[in-house]
Amino acid sequence: SKWVYRFGGGEAEGRAADVERLGGKGAHLAEMASLGLPVPPGLTIICDACTHYFHNQKTLPEDLKPEVLQGIAAMEQLTGRVFGGRSRPLLLSVRSGARASMPGMMDTVLNLGLNDETVQALGHDAGDARFAWDSYRRFIQMYADVVMGLDHEIFEEILEDEKARLGHDYDTELSAVEWQHVVGLYKQMIKEELGEGFPQDPHVQLWKAIAAVFSSWMNHRAITFRMLHRIPEEWGTAVNVQAMVFGNLGSSSATGVAFTRNPSTGDKSLYGEFLVNAQGEDVVAGIRTPQSITEEGRLASGSDKPSMEKLMPETFKEFRQICERLEAHYRDMQDVEFTVQQGKLWMLQTRCGKRTTRAALKVAVDMVEEGLISQEEAVCRIEPASLDQLLHPTIDPRVERHVLGAGLPASPGAATGEIVFTPEQAVDAEEEGRKVILVRIETSPEDIHGMHAAQGILTTRGGMTSHAAVVARGMGIPCVVGAGSMRVDLRNEVLTGVGGVTLRRGDVITIDGSSGQVLKGAVSMIQPALSGDFGKLMVWADGTRRMAVRTNADTPQDARAARSFGAEGIGLCRTEHMFFEGERIHAMREMILAEDETGRRAALAKLLPFQRSDFTEIFSIMHGLPVTIRLLDPPLHEFLPKTEAEIADVARAMDMPPAFLARRIDALHEFNPMLGHRGCRLAISYPEIAEIQARAIFEAAVAAAKETGEPVELEILVPLVGLRAELDYVKGVIDRVADQVTQETGRNIAYQAGTMIELPRAALRAHVIAETAEFFSFGTNDLTQTTFGISRDDAASFIPTYQRKGIIEHDPFVSLDFDGVGELIQIAAERGRRTRKDLKLGICGEHGGDPASIRFCEHADLDYVSCSPFRVPIARLAAAQAAI
Ligand code: PEP
Ligand code: MG
Repeated sequence: SKWVYRFGGGEAEGRAADVERLGGKGAHLAEMASLGLPVPPGLTIICDACTHYFHNQKTLPEDLKPEVLQGIAAMEQLTGRVFGGRSRPLLLSVRSGARASMPGMMDTVLNLGLNDETVQALGHDAGDARFAWDSYRRFIQMYADVVMGLDHEIFEEILEDEKARLGHDYDTELSAVEWQHVVGLYKQMIKEELGEGFPQDPHVQLWKAIAAVFSSWMNHRAITFRMLHRIPEEWGTAVNVQAMVFGNLGSSSATGVAFTRNPSTGDKSLYGEFLVNAQGEDVVAGIRTPQSITEEGRLASGSDKPSMEKLMPETFKEFRQICERLEAHYRDMQDVEFTVQQGKLWMLQTRCGKRTTRAALKVAVDMVEEGLISQEEAVCRIEPASLDQLLHPTIDPRVERHVLGAGLPASPGAATGEIVFTPEQAVDAEEEGRKVILVRIETSPEDIHGMHAAQGILTTRGGMTSHAAVVARGMGIPCVVGAGSMRVDLRNEVLTGVGGVTLRRGDVITIDGSSGQVLKGAVSMIQPALSGDFGKLMVWADGTRRMAVRTNADTPQDARAARSFGAEGIGLCRTEHMFFEGERIHAMREMILAEDETGRRAALAKLLPFQRSDFTEIFSIMHGLPVTIRLLDPPLHEFLPKTEAEIADVARAMDMPPAFLARRIDALHEFNPMLGHRGCRLAISYPEIAEIQARAIFEAAVAAAKETGEPVELEILVPLVGLRAELDYVKGVIDRVADQVTQETGRNIAYQAGTMIELPRAALRAHVIAETAEFFSFGTNDLTQTTFGISRDDAASFIPTYQRKGIIEHDPFVSLDFDGVGELIQIAAERGRRTRKDLKLGICGEHGGDPASIRFCEHADLDYVSCSPFRVPIARLAAAQAAI
């Protein structure tokens, strides 16, 4: 097998397309070299060698050596230098370069090849002994750290002592002789610490450095980074060995980094920084303030330090041309590193530049207009989830964060406000014009009014499909859930953060629903701005996608927001959310507490007008688009008070003895409500509930059709069906009411009756259920819960541990489990359509807004996805990408 790929002198054995084998850095160095760009010659040891290294007790493959030596001989030829030579010595850089960018996570050794002899030759060559000794001491420091495992701090201490002794403030004040002395001290210290001297043989240095860079693939930092970015360990890193070039050889030398377009705005202008007479590490170290590359950039920053354009006009011109060439070649914005050695420009790296969402949109749209890429390519270049950045205020990335705790990032965006602990406090605050964050252990439907009144929501318990998470996403307000490191003491109104920090009601906090962090105080925010580029790209996306994108909307506000984001219908209206507002809760409780059907009907009659007017409004807003309304789903005791004080309050309001109320609550208690008396089971026990809901829906449909002149495309959805007979029963009730309303109004009402597929049994028996159901809506929240047997409300306490231990890759409540839950979806889709060819299929669980899950839905041939209003643009883009 071939371990080494060479590049340099206008040729290369590798290509940009070889990223998997050569790593990002190596593949693009090869590409630049073969484009004839000035790249210092070098070689790339492929990623497989890293895997080999770890599979063989950290030894390098035997046949690697001759290939590397051949590569070095080629570098010697091209540079006219000799590795380890006593004149014109060749110095090398040894750097990692993985398939995915892992900035700063692995190790690098520069100036390799220096020893007591070559340092003299280098000084002679460069006509600068000071430079040579400075390079040598840098090399020793880096090598000792990376290869020999000595902390670089020890070297810093020696240097600081020397500077103090010599009366110098800055490194730049040390002379050649003084650096030479420092080198001596360094070597002496290494001997004392390790009992062995600093290796003088450049070949020994080289092999050890290569092994050390491979080893750094498994250092703690790299492992954590891979876990966070889901980079597989098997990939390994490549190692790039390259001839050194020096940006620190006087005032005609420099080093810098640049983006071919502005990475924060996307403007088409070269953007970058450089330092004269410096090495790359000096730019990163931030000791000196870098200068702008262009005059334009210098003027914009108000700096009086000359730009590269002014200082080195010829080199700058060449650099600008190379940047243009790279951009045209890669057809994307590039992020490049370069060095100028005594007037000669060298390119050290190129890669696709990271950018803000705003810049990504502008660059993609501009490049279509410049004829560089197609509309489809532009659509594929935007990370759907990143659109969140545009839809919500976000925390200014430049501010310092005082973190009080962290939970799951349940609903994106950031919000600041005073802490309140009850929904009532939130409502009062809103009336007084104060902004608040509602802090709860967990929320329940009874908290809805407070959630509406708050700027953001923080809970210490619950997962990504907990009540707080789902509702907040629906409302588009920031939310952090399951902040297990924080404690809420409701009685004393105290929130305790990490390290025991205590916060009281009225104290100001900020939550970051995009990262899950909870921060102290108010922090500065960046407001969202939807640019024209966003609109253009969305039009292209809509032209490409096959699946429709609907929204989960429970209220007229939700429906309006979703339409403005481009929703093409409502895929799920959870009617229970309408029962909590204002006086409706009283009628609802009356219904639940009623002891017979007559009592229930009396209470339901009070609810009917509320439901009818909500539905009428929603239908009118959706104006002829499909609307799926689901019948009541949650267990009834969710609507009843819980604490003793609440029970006393409600008993007083309902004019009944508290003991009676407590007894009824007790009677309704369930051990496992998620698997209890809920969903269609309620409609079967109390058909009058389904009856009244159906009546409200049909009467509203008639009213809305009259108002808008458009017939409503109505779908009625029955939850938690496992048996066809359940659906048959409930559909019977719905059909009867439809007939009645048709007779009463003289209007024909078109509708479809369908079912949620959210139980494994329903998925398996889909062919039978489809004999009754006219559409399926996959309720993947419950389907995940019931397939895994993991409670969706308790998952947050152990899913992160599962992820950390590598037992599962991602939270299945966030991103669909393709293998298990996904197979059930495929089975249901296939079996259902076998019975009914035109069976409409959609998804309305939280996964409907998750790009990876949306891709799955495209492959499963679903007709639409439905997600919370603020995720609609994300889903539109993700659905388009899935179709390409
Ligand atoms: C589901 O289970 O996926 C669903 C959409 O219903 P809910 O979240 O209301 O249970
Ligand atoms: Mg459900």
